[in-house]
Amino acid sequence: MTRAIILTVDDDPAVSQAIARDLREQYAGDYQIVRSGSGPEAMGVLEELTRRDQPVALIVSDHRMPEMTGIEFLELARPLAPDAKMVLLTAYADTDAAITAINEIGLDHYLMKPWAPPEERLYPVLDDLLADWELANAARFAGVRVVGHRWSERSHDTRLFLARNHVPYQWLELERDPEADRLLALLGADGDELPLVLLPDGTTLRGPTLLQIADALGLHTRAEADLYDLVIVGAGPAGLAAAVYGASEGLRTAVVERAAPGGQAGQSSRIENYLGFPKGLSGADLSHRAATQARRLGAEMVLAHDVVALETRGCVHALCLEDGSEIETRAVIVATGVSYRLLDAPGLAEVTGRGVFYGASASEARSAEGDDVYIVGAANSAGQAALHLARFARKVVMLVRGTAIETSMSQYLVARIHEAANIEVRLETEVVGGTGTDHLDSLTLRHRATGAEEVVPASWLFVFIGAAPRTDWLPAAVARDANGFIVTGPDVVLLDADRARWPLRRPPGLLETSVPGVFTAGDVRRGSMKRVASAVGEGASAVHLVHLHLESS
Ligand SMILES: Cc1cc2nc3c(=O)[nH]c(=O)nc-3n(C[C@H](O)[C@H](O)[C@H](O)COP(=O)(O)OP(=O)(O)OC[C@H]3O[C@@H](n4cnc5c(N)ncnc54)[C@H](O)[C@@H]3O)c2cc1C
Repeated sequence: MTRAIILTVDDDPAVSQAIARDLREQYAGDYQIVRSGSGPEAMGVLEELTRRDQPVALIVSDHRMPEMTGIEFLELARPLAPDAKMVLLTAYADTDAAITAINEIGLDHYLMKPWAPPEERLYPVLDDLLADWELANAARFAGVRVVGHRWSERSHDTRLFLARNHVPYQWLELERDPEADRLLALLGADGDELPLVLLPDGTTLRGPTLLQIADALGLHTRAEADLYDLVIVGAGPAGLAAAVYGASEGLRTAVVERAAPGGQAGQSSRIENYLGFPKGLSGADLSHRAATQARRLGAEMVLAHDVVALETRGCVHALCLEDGSEIETRAVIVATGVSYRLLDAPGLAEVTGRGVFYGASASEARSAEGDDVYIVGAANSAGQAALHLARFARKVVMLVRGTAIETSMSQYLVARIHEAANIEVRLETEVVGGTGTDHLDSLTLRHRATGAEEVVPASWLFVFIGAAPRTDWLPAAVARDANGFIVTGPDVVLLDADRARWPLRRPPGLLETSVPGVFTAGDVRRGSMKRVASAVGEGASAVHLVHLHLESS
């Protein structure tokens, strides 16, 4: 198998030798280390690697070079090595330029020279970047293959599930990829059996459910204990933080997640405001790190299961799953977040999952390569998606009901959207209809001020129009506001119409619901801030309240 490349660029022979030596020591087993003496020479190397289709995982470039600075080189290198991680070797005086480069050219890290000892100052940074690169690019070497139709909702759900569980897979599209058609014929499968999921051990799953895929891949799908101290419903940032704190503080903890860890944050192409990640990080990266941390500390993940009911039996709560099984626990944290509202326009429901998507994921973005893409929404999530999709699509059209995006979107996103050559923002425009049988074919757009309607051919529509909590599975005893958000703490007594509901002498804890022992955290909570950091903070804080509850019960 071709090894991916680590490219070093340095005009100073002593520095060039030293960095290549340290890189070989640690990474020669997995990567091929290639040295280059200047920016122009390195550009030639990259062009040759592109011709040979050899992936570049990492570029480490010195900044101060006579012919071309490191930043200038990395900017030119980006189109040739779009997925490569980029590190700049700098002197202290170049710090400002390096920080600017994080924004301007997507620099991943800057390292001060000298980097000795490498075990402390070089390898931890590069290990992290390379792990990230491998995660994002593992599909190239994947053992799992998915064969299906481009516009099939089941294929879409399967790919989304694999991607969000960080299972690398190769997507083989029927009628486009000869290998897909060959496998279909070889396995004698018919349309009802799609998608086919082929595992590295030779197993073929025909039109499997997500649970069957999870089981076949050895993902954890069953609760092991008879009784837990804490069960968390939902593995978004709030649920994962609660799992990390619960398990690390000695509580027997399980998390039930209907799909894959990450929640809404898992859909974000780049979270820029989470503390400690100056370059930002993708939601997939954040959720992978958090889920790994929770598992390492002993939390059990029960994936591909929907919690459909909660029953309180004395001081034990039972969470009922969609397959009829139950999990019993002494305390519950509901961290089920919110889901996108559906766009109410005739014709769209029929093609949801087949061209119309709520939220976006990396797998769809790549499938839309070279096509025109429409996005509905004007909040940060829509802005992030537009910028991400613009990397692959020919053109991205943002459809915005209001008269400006500045009022609803952060300034840094607005600026980048205006700068992007292939993003068009259409203000005061809404989608009033769509057509398509196998998949989305066209959209009807209406200009709100003039009422003028226009039908445009369209294959892709991504919708980001606000979100609602899905809390209808909770019993009436868990008080919610008129919009379905869960009421907690003092609000339980102040706002709950049925004030007599709270049964204890002590007041409910800040993140406690109207049922003692049932807590909530993150976006599903009434009055929450709807940010990753606040969800994480609430998840951790809720565990503190769980301890107090368990000690007193
Ligand atoms: C595209 C996008 C970009 C964003 N970008 C940013 C950003 O840059 N910065 C920022 O701070 N915030 C951002 N946000 C907001 C942020 O992601 C959310 O505030 C955060 O994810 C909320 O976390 P949560 O754990 O409360 O809920 P969620 O992330 O919504 O997670 C809830 C989880 O519960 C699961 N679940 C729901 N019901 C059940 C059930 N009955 N049984 C089992 N599982 C269930 C869901 O599948 C989901 O995984 C973004 C959101 C989106 C959609």
